[in-house]
Amino acid sequence: MSKVLVIGCGGVASVAIHKCCQASDIFTELCIASRTKAKCDQLAAKLSPNTSTKITTAQVDADDVQQVIDLINAYKPDLVMNIALPYQDLTIMDACLACGVNYMDTANYEPEDTDDPEWRAIYEKRCKEAGFSAYFDYSWQWAYRKKFEEAGLTALLGCGFDPGVTQAYCAYAKKHEFDTIDTIDILDCNGGDHGYAFATNFNPEVNLREVSAPGSYWEDGHWVEIPAMSIKREYDFDQVGHKDMYLLHHEEIESLALNIPEVKRIRFFMTFGQSYLDHMRCLENVGMLSTSPVEFEGQQIVPIKFLKALLPDPASLGPRTKGKTNIGCIFTGKKDGKDKTYYIYNVCDHEESYREVESQAISYTTGVPAMCGAMMLLTGKWNKPGVYTVEEFDPDPFLDALEKYGLPRNESHEPVLVD
Ligand code: NDP
Repeated sequence: MSKVLVIGCGGVASVAIHKCCQASDIFTELCIASRTKAKCDQLAAKLSPNTSTKITTAQVDADDVQQVIDLINAYKPDLVMNIALPYQDLTIMDACLACGVNYMDTANYEPEDTDDPEWRAIYEKRCKEAGFSAYFDYSWQWAYRKKFEEAGLTALLGCGFDPGVTQAYCAYAKKHEFDTIDTIDILDCNGGDHGYAFATNFNPEVNLREVSAPGSYWEDGHWVEIPAMSIKREYDFDQVGHKDMYLLHHEEIESLALNIPEVKRIRFFMTFGQSYLDHMRCLENVGMLSTSPVEFEGQQIVPIKFLKALLPDPASLGPRTKGKTNIGCIFTGKKDGKDKTYYIYNVCDHEESYREVESQAISYTTGVPAMCGAMMLLTGKWNKPGVYTVEEFDPDPFLDALEKYGLPRNESHEPVLVD
């Protein structure tokens, strides 16, 4: 029996909410709250006839801490699932602390306004000290550790697929397959085709900021930063085939380097088609990916926000996307003194995802882990006071839940390694 407040009602939230409604014994009551209440009402009307989960809706601007506090006080949830945007992570964490409620999200904090001088000064110091220049990092949310500990509350960070399941795979490898892990390569392959020359599979602003940034990886205790898309490999993915993939900075590298300290190297690769890369490069060259406002005919316009308005809504890709995703981790390390390799991954079919929850596989592979993470918190399997990432919890019940709710794992003990 639990009451959950979900903030956000976009592509990922819609899948998570669909899946919560398949587990009504745990998710007895849900409130869907977002900036645009009409979207919440529409989803509630679609799901309510076929679930015993009692769904209500609300309007909230989660940039405003007081609005979130008022909503939490009115609804009194056991858990707040933040599936809005990374920009709202801190305001929602503040509201959870003020009201004494557990918290979870799917992406770590980054500010909407990267020109904010106060944020910029801290960011530039971090770039110099840490050695990577992504706008997002864990320091902002890790700064809440003591507050959550003292309040006896749990905050679970980044519980989508990557970050999220990829860290559970690392915890699983550490628990069951290795004594020590030497290297981790996280491989994110989207073999789906939506038929558009250019579209992003999740929020365009967040997605384009991520992939147009310099890449980086962790090696021998420090970050190595490289120009965007400058390290390319080809890999033959199970059930997808050969794809080009590029080394990116990704948030889970930061927490894994901390929590699996013996690891010598952690890299993250994502596949991109040539058309996507050509469009992105061109948009970047003409300034369309900029987050700084420009004056246009007497109005201030943020180029990347304008671009978002022109691009297809990721939620609209569902009915047109064919093919599969394949996301997982390849490990090298030692067990009982012997060298060993291991690959654990999930394959998800875009069309099957759409048939089940009317979303493509990118939202599906993020929304299902968000629901399973919430389930771990609500059933007491992952509760400890403080702020944690997924690899800090027992992976077994989480991976069992993923198996049951649509994201089974595949394994190989003789994988082809990435050079
Ligand atoms: P969408 O843009 O589809 O949805 C975002 C939702 O948040 C919308 O409903 C939007 O409302 C709402 N929202 C935005 N700002 C506010 C606000 N100030 N107050 C209240 N609601 C707000 O994004 P996605 O569903 O694609 O992504 C959701 C999250 O999942 C993001 O944080 C993304 O980074 C993360 N993600 C994580 C992945 C992982 O594997 N870990 C993979 C993919 C995504 P409105 O409708 O009014 O715009």
